[in-house]
Amino acid sequence: MDRLLGNEALKASLAAAFAADRISHSYLISGPAGSGKHVLARILAAAMQCTAGSSRPCGVCLQCRKVFDNVHPDVITVDEPEKKTVSVDLVRQARSDLYVLPNEGRRKVYLIPRANDMNANAQNALLKVLEEPPEYGAFLLLSDNPEKLLPTIRSRCVCLRMSPLEEAECLPALAAAFPGKRREELHDAWERAAGYYGQAAALLRAEQSLSAQAKAFSEAFAARDRLRMTALLVGMERLKRDQLVPILDEWIELLSDAIRVRAGLPDGSAEASALGRSRTLRELLAAVRRVQNARTLALGNVGVGAICGALQAELNS
Ligand SMILES: [Zn+2]
Repeated sequence: MDRLLGNEALKASLAAAFAADRISHSYLISGPAGSGKHVLARILAAAMQCTAGSSRPCGVCLQCRKVFDNVHPDVITVDEPEKKTVSVDLVRQARSDLYVLPNEGRRKVYLIPRANDMNANAQNALLKVLEEPPEYGAFLLLSDNPEKLLPTIRSRCVCLRMSPLEEAECLPALAAAFPGKRREELHDAWERAAGYYGQAAALLRAEQSLSAQAKAFSEAFAARDRLRMTALLVGMERLKRDQLVPILDEWIELLSDAIRVRAGLPDGSAEASALGRSRTLRELLAAVRRVQNARTLALGNVGVGAICGALQAELNS
């Protein structure tokens, strides 16, 4: 149960249910991306298969380990990730497979990670088996939009809703996963991810892939630090043409993300978010036009020195 961060009330009520051997046949786990739905689904599947006498899932028995290693033959994922929807055929296939007894587990668990991508036919096919599953059958439905499921499906499931994490719950885990990050950066990611660990981790990963030039550019531009911007661009004057273009591409992407932040849409990194907060929309649009123009010149035969010199004047204006 410790594998799931936060969500204390949910964990307490599940632990009590497991201790009393009240494990339902079907659960609907809902919450946005990165909120821990998959982690909780593994915990539930392990609790169903665990052979320990008490405090299931124990996490150490063979059954638990197979579930957590994602190799348990009786925990079956019902999805074709490359397709847009979860088809009725796939659900029917799972339904007929359900009547084959479990290989080694106590239960046969079907995990449907994109439950709200089932169309009405697929949902109706699932409903039939949710209504009268064999004793060993179990279903774990995951959804970021449970309202799209038929009310009859929802009413057949125990509904579990993931909660955002408190700062104190989230930051230690982020610090362990991103040891190079400062506390403020972790805090910023937690805040922008609205408390969902998976989203915060994705934001921090996106930042790590930014180049040094992109970081320096965004910091100087956000802070209106002319000296730093000048130093950065003077340093770039010595680059070759084919080294300059990818850097400018990254700046364009960063500025475009910042423009989206200003428009209230989610962004890709802390840098884009800081840019979006510190500059007006008009300034960001002007900057992206200037960098795009510099890129066009770099692809032509204007010298790198001249391009960087012009950018320096324009971005510091
Ligand atoms: Zn176990």
